Amino acid sequence: MPLQILLNGSRGRMGQAIAAAAPDMHAVICAATDAGDDPAQYLDAADVIIDFSSHHATRSLLELAIARQKPIVIGTTGHNSSDKQTLLQLAAKVPCVWAGNFSVGVNLLFALTRRATAVLGVDYDTEVVEMHHRFKKDAPSGTAARLLEIILEERKLDRTALRHGRSGITGERQAAEVGVHALRGGDVIGDHTVIYAALGERIELTHKASDRAIFARGAIRAAHWVVNQPPGVYDMQDVLGLK
Ligand code: NAD
Repeated sequence: MPLQILLNGSRGRMGQAIAAAAPDMHAVICAATDAGDDPAQYLDAADVIIDFSSHHATRSLLELAIARQKPIVIGTTGHNSSDKQTLLQLAAKVPCVWAGNFSVGVNLLFALTRRATAVLGVDYDTEVVEMHHRFKKDAPSGTAARLLEIILEERKLDRTALRHGRSGITGERQAAEVGVHALRGGDVIGDHTVIYAALGERIELTHKASDRAIFARGAIRAAHWVVNQPPGVYDMQDVLGLK
């Protein structure tokens, strides 16, 4: 029996990519919901919910998943950090995979960034640059946010170290700063670069997505995996066995 998916955000770019990828991955979209629909009435037939919609939808969808004890895969980004903490506590009541990026390559980039930050340390000025299509509504991207979390953890810095763009008389760069820059334009699906710049050398780690199908396939892979897990919040590193 193929995996039965309730897909929320089904009319969006990612929703359409997931619907296109499902048939080759032993999965069926048994219900497709979008803004204005009530997912509750379609949930009985579903084994799992996949959500790529809007951050406004996450709380009510999680409450529904908890009430009906359905596993959920969340790809939606754009939550502020205090909302995200509250939502993660809710999400832990059901089996939940929550990832800012479902691609295998980006999950390797996360692991490489952790290692590079630990090895290079404070002498290497660290900046994150991301570029996405002109329609993206949030910045920096969920993937850039995760890269920044990893860098702050390894450097033992808090969020006050972040510099979102620079403008005017900023003064010299401080060693404890971590820069973040969001470029927007055209149809770019998602580029991320972590730059480590020292006096005399520079290292750049770059990932470029050229097809949304990588996220769609990752999300469906996560859905197959999460239906067999106990309640708790997991990420793509768990799904891929990278931890
Ligand atoms: P999109 O704007 O093309 O699609 C979003 C869809 O959600 C639209 O059809 C919209 O009508 C719908 N929607 C809005 N509010 C809703 C609500 N309250 N309930 C149900 N549906 C609602 O956007 P997209 O490019 O498909 O991206 C969707 C989300 O997924 C964004 O947050 C984006 O950043 C994120 N994303 C995550 C990954 C990942 O790997 N985690 C990859 C790509 C995009």
